[in-house]
Amino acid sequence: GSTIGILGGGQLGRMLALQGRAMGYRFVTLDPTPDAPCGQVADQQLIAPYDSEADARKLAAQSDVITYEFENVDAGVAALLERESYVPQGSRLLFTTQHRLREKRAIEASGVKVAPYREIPTAEALREASATFGFPCVLKTATGGYDGKGQWVLRSADEVDEAFATLSQAGTELVLEQFIHFEREISVIAARNPDGEIRTFPVSENVHVNNILHLSIVPARISQHLAREAEQMASQIAEHLEVVGLIAVEMFVAQDGQLFVNELAPRPHNSGHYTMEACHTSQFEQHLRAICNLPLASTELMTPVVMVNVLGQHMEPLMAMLAAEEAAAERRPRVVPKLHVYGKQESKHNRKMGHINLLAETVEDALDWVEAAGIWQTEGKR
Ligand code: ATP
Ligand code: MG
Ligand code: MG
Repeated sequence: GSTIGILGGGQLGRMLALQGRAMGYRFVTLDPTPDAPCGQVADQQLIAPYDSEADARKLAAQSDVITYEFENVDAGVAALLERESYVPQGSRLLFTTQHRLREKRAIEASGVKVAPYREIPTAEALREASATFGFPCVLKTATGGYDGKGQWVLRSADEVDEAFATLSQAGTELVLEQFIHFEREISVIAARNPDGEIRTFPVSENVHVNNILHLSIVPARISQHLAREAEQMASQIAEHLEVVGLIAVEMFVAQDGQLFVNELAPRPHNSGHYTMEACHTSQFEQHLRAICNLPLASTELMTPVVMVNVLGQHMEPLMAMLAAEEAAAERRPRVVPKLHVYGKQESKHNRKMGHINLLAETVEDALDWVEAAGIWQTEGKR
């Protein structure tokens, strides 16, 4: 069997390694944290910072194929890994997706719409662009953001100077986006292998709370027509960017039914965890197939499903719900809960500790389960 190296040791790497070991691969992971979620299940963990070229060289020496589980890979490290091992996803895809402006231009070049945006080099530019877009509008750092970090929703012109000064401290370019008053958010994960074969997973409807993904609902509650359009857009992006592996495409469904891409992720995605039990093939297996140039497998949805991210504060009520169900003579009908925990050492508020896939006859049954468990978050976002 070949050895696959994973740059990054979080839960995405962990689930990739668990799946890949079942397929007969060995895994080496590189992460600075001892006992990282992926390190616990890999054959070997190199404990080192992500941007150390000396340690990346060790990963390259031990791996036949290298993949990554986050997109902010240091450019020098990416180049080194490509030189000294085989990185089927390539460093170009990383270069594009780790910078919002480059990413938006690439999406547009593939013929797909993004929310209207402007590059913001000065406070004056922000004043002008925000006046053009109107309020609210969203200022974002071009690099390094996740879970809404590095963003500022401007409510009025009074916030221009403070927002610009605060986000400028990150030392990266800034981008202003028009605020999309979306009807809902969806995502599509596409896989492409070096032979150019492309397959998409079913559209996921995503609910974020405080900018953190809370629920994925599949099938998404949208028309067949819109679902086909979203899948087509994801395929088009995968083809244009010559993706190898997975590309997750986050989109807004506007009130008038128009689709705008929000952002991309060139890796397994939180909104694709539902595939683990609900699809013929999981996103992790498909990613491994794609980077190893195996034929891609069926992405068919076997059952409606709701995925709930289990944050630190959800652990206790969730365990109580699972225990109560186990004890009850009469089980709640038609919901099969599948729990995944990531082995993180310390449970914290808003830290992703695991997720649960609720397989059900209808997504409404699964949502009822979430409500009964007391883990349905309804606080307004932002
Ligand atoms: P992730 O953890 O998904 O990588 P991120 O920090 O990169 O998050 P975005 O995905 O850009 O952030 O934005 C987070 C959330 O904020 C979106 O899912 C959406 O709910 C909201 N949002 C972002 N941009 C806009 C916009 N232009 N209009 C309306 N809502 C937005
Ligand atoms: Mg992001
Ligand atoms: Mg996002």
